[in-house]
Amino acid sequence: MFQFTYKLRVAERVKAKCERHPRYNPERDGRGGIKGGCSTCFSLYDLHHVRLMLDSAHRDF
Ligand SMILES: [Zn+2]
Repeated sequence: MFQFTYKLRVAERVKAKCERHPRYNPERDGRGGIKGGCSTCFSLYDLHHVRLMLDSAHRDF
């Protein structure tokens, strides 16, 4: 339980940006907004996606 809370807090603090695409916003642009299969943007998207899943899991719980 402690570990779960810890992970949530870490995700809370992450404000990552892609150096090549500073305007990319996974929340707004989604997966289709990733330019040229940029791996950093994919990571940002994954992070956002995991964050949403954690949030909904937390709500369901
Ligand atoms: Zn990028």
